[in-house]
Amino acid sequence: MKSKKITVLVVDDDPAALETIAELLVEANYRVLTAPGGRRALEILQQQTGIDLIVSDLMMPEMDGIALTKEIRGMGSHIPIIVITGFATIELAVETMKAGAADFITRPFNNEQIKITIEKVLENQRLQKLAGEREFYKQLSNHDEMTGLANYRSCHETLGKETERASRYTRPLSIMMIDIDNFKCCNDTYGHLAGDAAMMQIAGLIKKQTRTSDCVARYGGEEFMVILPETPIDEASMVAERIREAIEQHPFVSEEGAPIASLSVTIGLSSIPDRAATKKDLIRTADIALYKGKTSGKNKVVVFE
Ligand SMILES: [Mg+2]
Repeated sequence: MKSKKITVLVVDDDPAALETIAELLVEANYRVLTAPGGRRALEILQQQTGIDLIVSDLMMPEMDGIALTKEIRGMGSHIPIIVITGFATIELAVETMKAGAADFITRPFNNEQIKITIEKVLENQRLQKLAGEREFYKQLSNHDEMTGLANYRSCHETLGKETERASRYTRPLSIMMIDIDNFKCCNDTYGHLAGDAAMMQIAGLIKKQTRTSDCVARYGGEEFMVILPETPIDEASMVAERIREAIEQHPFVSEEGAPIASLSVTIGLSSIPDRAATKKDLIRTADIALYKGKTSGKNKVVVFE
């Protein structure tokens, strides 16, 4: 399969120089567009998409390379720009880099030099894009897409680390399992979009009542877990009570802002080292407490005993 040609826009006020660079790039198998000045270059950029790179002369009447670079960055465009300059104006080239150019080439240059610089700049851009994507996917895999909270996977990872740390240094660690009461009713009555909106509001309320050092995770469909490092059970149950109250009193609204039914949560708590010794035990005992709350009227905080 033939890959798509890279498009380079060459800008130079000197027609001979413009032609030389254009020819050399065409030979190197690039698609080439030319502009005799900055204004024309900006016009081309506004009319055409798919320009991968700009090679521009630095010294030009009317609009020089720096002004052009600033204009292009001002448009919000990230197209890499390489400026061409003579030795006398190398400081200006540096200034152009500060304005957002990717690299510069000094005159006189040979053909290889310009090709290598172009390849290097394009490769850098490709790597930067990849790094950005990797960060994006990492974010996705650690976070629940809807609420932005930690997801099940990263919650387990954090809990593993925290239980290990708590046992090693004999420090207190508490967790709470939070389950929304009668959530199915909310979805059935107001629709899933309203249910999602309510879910996000609950996530926000939990987050608001906890410290940044606590980990708030969406644990399952309508279940959240809060991991509270360095927190004994009585402190954790006070936080849980604040969360329960905040949710009970919150005027929930749909995605369109229309009021919907009030909601409540049931919270089960457990802690290391007094109620559990391992991560598995910690989850199991918090779950038992949650179940007890669910079967004894809901909308309450229950500590595992
Ligand atoms: Mg010039």
